[in-house]
Amino acid sequence: MSRNIAIIGGGIVGLFIAYYLNKLDSSLKIRIIDKSIDQKHKASIYNAGLITPSFSPLPDLSISDIARYVTARNSPIRVGLGELFKNLKWFLKAYRSINKNPELGKRLAEISLNMYYEFINESNADLDMVKGVLALFMKSKDAEDMHKLVGGRLIDQRDIEEIGYKGFDGAVLIDNEIAINPAKLYRYLYEYISKQGIEFQTVDDLRIRITSDKRIAIFTGKLGKITYDKLIIAAGSWSRDICRAIGYDPYILPARGIVRLYRSMKEKIVDKPALLEDYGIGVSIHKNNVIRLTGYFELIGFNTRIEEDRVNNLIRIATKHIKMFNEDSVELIDYGMGFRPCTPDNLPVIGKVPGYEDIYIASGHCRLGVTLSPVTGHIIASMVNDRKPNIDEELLLAMSPDRFPRIRKSGDTSLLSAIAAGSATAAVSSSSQ
Ligand SMILES: Cc1cc2nc3c(=O)[nH]c(=O)nc-3n(C[C@H](O)[C@H](O)[C@H](O)COP(=O)(O)OP(=O)(O)OC[C@H]3O[C@@H](n4cnc5c(N)ncnc54)[C@H](O)[C@@H]3O)c2cc1C
Repeated sequence: MSRNIAIIGGGIVGLFIAYYLNKLDSSLKIRIIDKSIDQKHKASIYNAGLITPSFSPLPDLSISDIARYVTARNSPIRVGLGELFKNLKWFLKAYRSINKNPELGKRLAEISLNMYYEFINESNADLDMVKGVLALFMKSKDAEDMHKLVGGRLIDQRDIEEIGYKGFDGAVLIDNEIAINPAKLYRYLYEYISKQGIEFQTVDDLRIRITSDKRIAIFTGKLGKITYDKLIIAAGSWSRDICRAIGYDPYILPARGIVRLYRSMKEKIVDKPALLEDYGIGVSIHKNNVIRLTGYFELIGFNTRIEEDRVNNLIRIATKHIKMFNEDSVELIDYGMGFRPCTPDNLPVIGKVPGYEDIYIASGHCRLGVTLSPVTGHIIASMVNDRKPNIDEELLLAMSPDRFPRIRKSGDTSLLSAIAAGSATAAVSSSSQ
């Protein structure tokens, strides 16, 4: 008998889960249920598109840095005072996690990078792929430190200029890392899985109910009530609200970043995509004359108002450091923002939601969500099909949802008694976002 599977969240993680579920067992009935957030706020489309295991998912957040990030105006990282007070435990954990798990996260991301190579070879999808990603530094000593840590090739000032950047003293080139166009990746996957019969339903709100026979019922205005055998929560930064409603707190906070895409009149802007490490800015290129600039890591909740001086600052830095970029020779063709779903300990949260046999979570990938989506899809697809993922036990344990607490608190007390009685109704409504 074919089984019904619901995936809540139609970002890149949800799409890759559907892709690998279908690959493993094409008889599964899979439905992706997505809440209609503004497309311009979708991290899976508005990101840098760098597939980079050498990059850390979360920036270091020391106590003294946090104080600076609360007050600084144009710093690459910003922390809202309200967000800080509301989430002290998260910030404390992030502080304690500095330099923790870097090699675990890197190992996971390397597996995923190889899966990208396989996926691109198999599918022949045109994703504007560019091979080789640069990490650029103002001080050559910082480049040397990174080189010691992650390998790659040290690049000197002259070569940096030849590639198209200026004003940097050192760089590391990681030859096997890649950049892709995330909007094309999203579109390709969406169309591919739709052709495989996977449904994608956009809803305004949904409610989850665990029935007394332990099946999962999801109520939505559009679809009514449908029961599922398995449920996967992959709603990015919004996963925490959904999980809290069913008695679990995965400690995920949204970290906003902005994206601007420009078309250049010149034939070529830069030869290689790059991370301007001192500014936290990503530079990517599509078909030579389109440049994608991304910047900022802002822990300010789901705030969508972008101050003009932040955008101007991004343009100023691009003009200063990219030889062929200035506002007179480029045309803005698209812009948006995304909320990176960040756990405080540099690792995503992937596996069974504590207390439930048939509910899984796959989120918390923070700055590396695009990079880590294929491996996440593989892990969840294996678990749902009662197979062992092809990943070592240490990694699976490190990402386990069990490291975050089950909670008994919720705004909705009727929900709590329902959970206790084994029939939870979790309301995940627009108003809670
Ligand atoms: C500026 C920027 C640059 C980045 N650069 C990179 C990079 O270079 N490399 C990299 O690997 N990663 C990068 N990232 C991170 C990456 O984009 C994210 O980690 C990734 O997109 C998260 O994917 P997701 O599917 O988990 O979440 P999302 O893309 O946020 O998708 C979540 C989905 O859940 C839906 N949803 C929300 N609430 C509900 C609900 N109640 N019910 C149903 N559905 C719901 C939303 O509509 C959305 O479609 C960047 C992010 C930003 C913002």
